[in-house]
Amino acid sequence: MNRRRQIYEGKAKILYEGPEPGTIIQFFKDDATAFNAEKRGTIEGKGVINNRISEFLFTQLGGAGVPNHFIRRVNMREQLVRQVEIIPLEVIVRNVAAGSICKRLGLEEGTALPRSIIEFCYKNDALGDPLIAEEHITAFGWASPPELDEIIALSIRTNDYLSGLFAGIGIKLIDFKLEFGRIWENDILRILLADEISPDSCRLWDIKSGEKLDKDRFRRDLGGVSEAYHEVARRLGLLQDIGEAPNNVVDITKGKGKDKAKEEG
Ligand code: UDP
Repeated sequence: MNRRRQIYEGKAKILYEGPEPGTIIQFFKDDATAFNAEKRGTIEGKGVINNRISEFLFTQLGGAGVPNHFIRRVNMREQLVRQVEIIPLEVIVRNVAAGSICKRLGLEEGTALPRSIIEFCYKNDALGDPLIAEEHITAFGWASPPELDEIIALSIRTNDYLSGLFAGIGIKLIDFKLEFGRIWENDILRILLADEISPDSCRLWDIKSGEKLDKDRFRRDLGGVSEAYHEVARRLGLLQDIGEAPNNVVDITKGKGKDKAKEEG
C-alpha cells in the first residue's frame, strides 16, 4: 500500500512527494535503459546500490563545498532530497574520451583529453537530449549567465573531488553527467547539485585492468553488470550495507539502436 503522491516516474527513479513541504523522495529502481530507451532491462539490486553510492557521493561532495539536494537516506531504495526546480541541462564532464565524443570527433576510446571538458545537453527526451552550446542556455533562458557560471564552477569542483576519490580506490573517472536545480533560500536563489551520481551516470574504469565498472557493461552487453556496480560499492566501503551481488542480470530487449550516439541515464 502506497498512499504517497507520485510526482514523476523516470527511467531509473520514481519521485514521490516528501513528508515535509519542499522535500521529495527519490525511489531508485532496478530498471535500466540505454539508447534513448530503445534498450531496456533490469539490473538486479541496482536501485539499492545506486541509492547508497549516490548518498555517499553527495554527502562527501557536500563536505567538499558542492551544495546539493541530499538530505538523508530513508531506506534501501529511497532517499529524502530537497525539492528543486530542475534546470533542463545535462552537464557532462569528460576527462578521457569515451562514448558520444568519440563518435562526434573521431577520437579513439581511452584517449586522454588535453584538459577536462564540460559539455551541455538540453534535457529533452523527445529530442534525444541534443548537445548545445552555452549560447543556447543563456539565449533561451534555461539558466542565467551567473547561474551558468555557478554550474560550471560546481561541475569542476565535483570533477576534481570525485577524480581524487575514485583514484584512491583504483578507479579512473572517465566522464559523468550532472544535473542542477535552483532553490530559494532566504530570498537568495541558490544552485544545488541534484539527481544522482552512480555507475548509471558515470564511466568508471579500473585503473590497472581498464575494466569497465559502469553502465557501459549493460549498454554493450558485456555481462557482469550487477557485479560491476557491486564492485564500485565494495571499493567505496559500502558493501556491508548492501549485500553480495546476485548473478542474474536480465536484459529484456537486446541490440536495438546500437548505432545511436545518445542514450538515457
Ligand atoms: N550520461 C547519462 N545520461 C544521459 C547521457 C549521458 O548519465 O542521458 C552519462 C554517461 O553515463 C556517461 C557521460 O554521461 O558517463 C557521457 O555520456 P556520453 O555523452 O558519452 O553519451 P553516451 O555515449 O553514453 O551516449
